[in-house]
This record gives sequence, C-alpha cells and structure tokens, in this order.
Amino acid sequence: MRRKIIAGNWKMNKTPSEAVKLVEELKPLVKNDAVDVVFCVPAIDIVPVVKACEGTNIEVGAENMYFEESGAYTGEISPAMLVDAGVKYVILGHSERRDYFKETSEDINKKMKKAIEHGLVPIMCCGESLEQREQGITLDWIRQQVKVGYQGIAASDAAKTVIAYEPIWAIGTGKTATTEQAEEVCRAIRQCIAEIYDEATAEAIRIQYGGSVNAGNASELFAQPDIDGGLVGGASLKADFGKIVNY
Ligand code: PEP
Repeated sequence: MRRKIIAGNWKMNKTPSEAVKLVEELKPLVKNDAVDVVFCVPAIDIVPVVKACEGTNIEVGAENMYFEESGAYTGEISPAMLVDAGVKYVILGHSERRDYFKETSEDINKKMKKAIEHGLVPIMCCGESLEQREQGITLDWIRQQVKVGYQGIAASDAAKTVIAYEPIWAIGTGKTATTEQAEEVCRAIRQCIAEIYDEATAEAIRIQYGGSVNAGNASELFAQPDIDGGLVGGASLKADFGKIVNY
C-alpha cells in the first residue's frame, strides 16, 4: 500500500517572515500521521521554514535546484545546499519552469540524477497543454516526458521518487481535471514506469495529481487507485490545505 503524499507548492509567494507565520497557522491544521505532508517553499524561505517545522510532521521541499555540484552558476542553488539546509524533497520540471525558463526534459533528467545522488526525493512534474489534450496526444506527450526524465536512473532509485501529473490547463485556473481524466493519465504513467522498469517499481512509485486541487475535490481525486496524493498550489497557502491533508 503506497503512502499518500500531499505537497504544497508555494511558488513565488511569502517573504521569510510571512512564511514562518503561515507555517505557524498551518501546523495544527496539517497534522495527519497517515500521510506525508510537504511544504515546497521559495529558496529564501527554506532555512526559517525548516526551523519552524522542527518537531512536526511537516517535511520541507524546494521548488527547484541546479544539476551542478558548485561553481560559477550565479543565482542557482545546488543539491548539497538543499540537503545541508534540511530539505528532503525537490520539485523538478514544474510546467512554469519548463515554459518560462525553458527547462527541457533533458535538463530535468540531469537534475533528477543529481537530486537522487544527494538523497533528495524528486517530485518530477509532467503535464500536457490544452492544445495537446485537444489534439489527442496527451498520453504520448506524458510518456515522453517520463521516459526522458527517468533515463539512466536505476529502478531502486526510481521507486523512491514521486511524479506529479499536472495538466497545464488545470494549474491555477480553477479548472480541475475530472477524476476520470486524472486517473487515466496517472494509470498511464504507472504503466510507463512498468515498461521502463518492472511491475514492482511501478507499484512502489508515488504519483500525485496537481491542478486546482481544493478542499472540495481532494477526497475524490485521492480515492483513485493510481493517485497517491496531490501537488497543491494556490490552496496550499490557506487553511484549506489542512482540509486537503485530512481529506
Ligand atoms: C501547482 O502549481 O503545482 C499547482 C497545481 O497549482 P494550483 O493548485 O494552484 O492549480
């Protein structure tokens, strides 16, 4: 039985002092030892948020990292920096990074390998645009993103990672995929992992749905056999996140 993982993606929101205030507000609301709870926060918030989460059930994640160890990469953050700061998870390949910052699946594959090498758990995002969905190429596109993202990664490592299926048209739009649409793609991702690796790896890997998850739709989405929790944007900044965690 896979343990559910519910992660908040704060995106570019909350200054360090606002972040600590939000953690204090959410702490009592997100208590649920039956699921993994992760707050993925802006880089500058990581240190104070890790401190504020000490002694709670909340793990801290980053929203991005670079694939080099150190050196002349102005503005980037290395995996070792994240680990040293107390980070456990890292979102890689969010569609906003793919779109606005032109990250490719090949870049994300390099980041996946580095994150794993440093003991971080990557949450690798994939998802189709509305145009791709309308063209009927959703599953082919997602399979391609997953195949490139996991190139050269061993089964034993892949099994510990998390994939977030996030249809781009559902992110921040209030338009959630239907449970059938979300389950169809999450099932296809699991089948793709079984093809790349084996059934045991496919059974172990956790697959989240993301895209306008809220307190009203979380329980139905998370009840699907191939949906192991959610990656939550907007609603992770509000008390609603507590309801989602305790779906
Ligand atoms: C996200 O940014 O990963 C996301 C799913 O956002 P929202 O929940 O706001 O759609």
